[in-house]
Amino acid sequence: METVLATHAGFCFGVDKAVRNVYDLLDKTDNICTFGPIIHNDTVVSDLKEKGVRVIENEEELSEVHDSTVVIRAHGVPPRIYDLIKRNNNECVDGTCPVVKRIHDIVKSKSEEGYRIIIIGSPVHPEVLGIKGWSEGDVCVIENVDDAEAFVHESSQPLCIVSQTTFNLNKFQELVEIIKNKGYNVNVVNTICNATKERQESADAIASKVDIMLVIGGKNSSNTQKLYSICKEKCPQTYFVTGVDDLKIDIPKTASLVGITAGASTPNNIIEEVQNYVRINF
Ligand code: SF4
Repeated sequence: METVLATHAGFCFGVDKAVRNVYDLLDKTDNICTFGPIIHNDTVVSDLKEKGVRVIENEEELSEVHDSTVVIRAHGVPPRIYDLIKRNNNECVDGTCPVVKRIHDIVKSKSEEGYRIIIIGSPVHPEVLGIKGWSEGDVCVIENVDDAEAFVHESSQPLCIVSQTTFNLNKFQELVEIIKNKGYNVNVVNTICNATKERQESADAIASKVDIMLVIGGKNSSNTQKLYSICKEKCPQTYFVTGVDDLKIDIPKTASLVGITAGASTPNNIIEEVQNYVRINF
């Protein structure tokens, strides 16, 4: 079967940098931990585990870690996590993506100037939890139209709106409009990452031209889930797969072209495996 790969697919530079940080450390030191899985990709996380890298799941567990090297992943963390890492004689290797770091800096400075921070994103996503921690004051997280419509701000304090990096641009603009229409004093900073936008646009561009669309990524990866919903709108035969093991798909006899895209935490070798499998077996 013929395949077409989205122009932008797979590892973004932020994830690439964070993962490379950990692999580089393997030659230099022992006792390496990552605060949370370094990326939403089970293959990479399992490989690192086999090489002795431990995943710290939460703050309680982190508080027990001593004399180790702790890597912060691309999502970033609130300031208290840096303090917790340093408290126990650990070394901190900061893999926070520069695009996320920029949001931390905006939130810190705007909140210091007196703005109330609004984050458009998922309230439970680690990146959003990290961003929240950089505000000096109250933060409100808005995820959907219901949240935006229910949002009430009972003071003259100006608002600063930022976004989770992986949020859909159209949805962000829709939610911002709802908040603006309430008449508040609003400063909007679009902090959606270009890597996300590029992946979404190039997936969208091929999804309407193919018979089947495969979206590769970890089940917990929010940017992969968003790619899936964008593709599904254009191509009803869209499948979310983590790798070749999930490719047990009934192929319609009329199908002749398979489109492939992948979330920002999918390594190139997994994309190549899927592409080769489809070429040979579909
Ligand atoms: S998607 Fe963008 S913000 Fe997120 S890690 Fe990649 S480059 Fe950084």
